[in-house]
Amino acid sequence: MSNDAAEDPRRGLMLVISSPSGAGKTTLARKLMAEFEDVVLSVSATTRSPRPNETDGVDYHFRSETEFRQMIAKREFLEWAKVFDRYYGTPRADTVAELEAGRDVLFDVDWQGADALHDQMPNDCVSVFVLPPSIEALEARLRARPGSDDEMVARRMRDAKAEILHWRRYDYCIVNDDLEIAYEKLRRILLVERTKRLREHGLEDHVRRLLGEV
Ligand code: ADP
Ligand code: 5GP
Repeated sequence: MSNDAAEDPRRGLMLVISSPSGAGKTTLARKLMAEFEDVVLSVSATTRSPRPNETDGVDYHFRSETEFRQMIAKREFLEWAKVFDRYYGTPRADTVAELEAGRDVLFDVDWQGADALHDQMPNDCVSVFVLPPSIEALEARLRARPGSDDEMVARRMRDAKAEILHWRRYDYCIVNDDLEIAYEKLRRILLVERTKRLREHGLEDHVRRLLGEV
């Protein structure tokens, strides 16, 4: 059996990252995508209009409400939700194609999205919860983020505790105090999860050869 991924492709994994807003999941996810070219972000479908800087197929798949309802009826979503009167969903086929091509797919979702993805694809999901080092640090990060205001910070701080309560549902929890240390933990999780037996396509044949069956 070769160790070369190109000759013997592994199955990708679904890396599901949640956190209270401001704890640093976007920062950590971006670092992972910058380091690993075979880690891609899941592109959701939505019925909301594109913002000026957004591109169809890159930021979201922009769909009409009729199209979205048809996709629900045809069970084309791994999960979907109505947020602020608009629909959002994770297309099943895109994710499956990426996993089969040996790429890992990142999901930035709340605990309910994480639960739904795990229900649909239990063998493929690896879930990570990012915690802030303290409530004070979380608030400081929210305030420092461009475009934040007092009301938004207050609302997110209220929502934060409700999100943190679900930390036990996750496979891993990372306290994001020093960014480099937190990132090193995340990349180790990715690297070790990639080597899980179920994800190594070539193992079945390798063992059959060892046993003289082929
Ligand atoms: P989330 O995606 O969880 O809402 P972000 O990744 O947008 O959070 O991070 C919120 C803010 O905190 C950003 O301004 C980011 O640069 C900053 N940040 C992220 N991780 C750290 C860290 N370990 N130490 C200090 N600031 C951080
Ligand atoms: P926005 O319109 O600002 O891009 O996103 C609004 C909200 O929708 C965010 O809270 C975001 O996490 C959520 N969202 C985006 N895509 C999906 C998705 O595929 N599924 C679910 N459940 N929520 C999503």
